[in-house]
Amino acid sequence: MASLQEQSEHRSGLPELSIIVPVFNEAENICPFLGRLTPILTSCTRSHEIIFVDDGSRDETLKILHAAHEADHTVGIVSLSRNFGKEIAIAAGLDHARGEASVILDADLQHPPEMIATFVKFWRQGYKNVYGQRIDRKADSPLRRMLTHRFYKLFGQFGETRLPEGAGDFRLLDAQAVKALLQMREHARFSKGLYAWIGFKSIGVPFHVEDRAYGVSKFSYRKLTRFALDGLMSFSTLPLEVWTYLGTFISLLALAAAVYFIGETLVLGVSVPGYASLIVSITFFAGVQLLSLGILGEYIGRIFTEVKRRPLYLVQEFVGPDHHPAKVKK
Ligand code: UDP
Ligand code: MG
Repeated sequence: MASLQEQSEHRSGLPELSIIVPVFNEAENICPFLGRLTPILTSCTRSHEIIFVDDGSRDETLKILHAAHEADHTVGIVSLSRNFGKEIAIAAGLDHARGEASVILDADLQHPPEMIATFVKFWRQGYKNVYGQRIDRKADSPLRRMLTHRFYKLFGQFGETRLPEGAGDFRLLDAQAVKALLQMREHARFSKGLYAWIGFKSIGVPFHVEDRAYGVSKFSYRKLTRFALDGLMSFSTLPLEVWTYLGTFISLLALAAAVYFIGETLVLGVSVPGYASLIVSITFFAGVQLLSLGILGEYIGRIFTEVKRRPLYLVQEFVGPDHHPAKVKK
């Protein structure tokens, strides 16, 4: 006989677990992905919904998602009006999730769905933020691995939020944590920082990253650089403040030099040499000034984007799992 809790859930029709999958041109991956995911969900949860966020795919992705929905009504589709990027696609998925907990994972099978059973186990023990921790990055190219490593070192030194080692988007979030995340409607979304910022009882579960099932990574080095800058600038104001210290230091140095040159002129008389040092210092300080202006520009650009208060994303089509209306529509 169903327990009271199960009966009430059945009546309200809300699933226990929401699975959020951002997809961008993943046509070949969806069927193998669902084939591996669904048996795990039925074995470890009472009820579930799988929300695919189609992030403006230009291939057959949306068509395949519709077919998947026809075959299995626990599949829902949030189709965005264009490509907004993975971070925003995740936010869109969380907006539409109705589960008591949500799991975010990639569609390319780099995040093993089998791990969800372990995530759910920890969640039932009371953890609200259960994250997968990648043990290695063998699936990434050596250049990307090196740049990623440098970025996390830099973030560790300057960022005001501590990021757990190897933690990414692959995680389970309790509804309470999801609610907290959704209060942050910032456009420059650095999710890894946001997950750490909200806190809650958290635990990491190590896993091996598998190779991409089909296709190539959707992240170019240009996209990754933007992402890294978003991360640093949303979680640290040090790049802005460092100029105060550097400026003070350089002014003091210039004052000392002035005193020295006045002394030298008084003692030894006027001398012409110094051309080289003059050119060097002029170009050096011109560089420093341009760099500091550039950093100001990066922050001002982000402030500009935020103050416009545009919606985070636009939905072109929503197909609710089980035909239930969405929690919110943005
Ligand atoms: N993705 C997305 N929007 C984008 C880029 C990627 O929704 O603009 C999705 C993609 O379909 C995949 C997940 O985000 O499900 C991770 O992307 P990818 O595998 O390309 O990233 P990587 O594994 O190289 O970090
Ligand atoms: Mg991938």
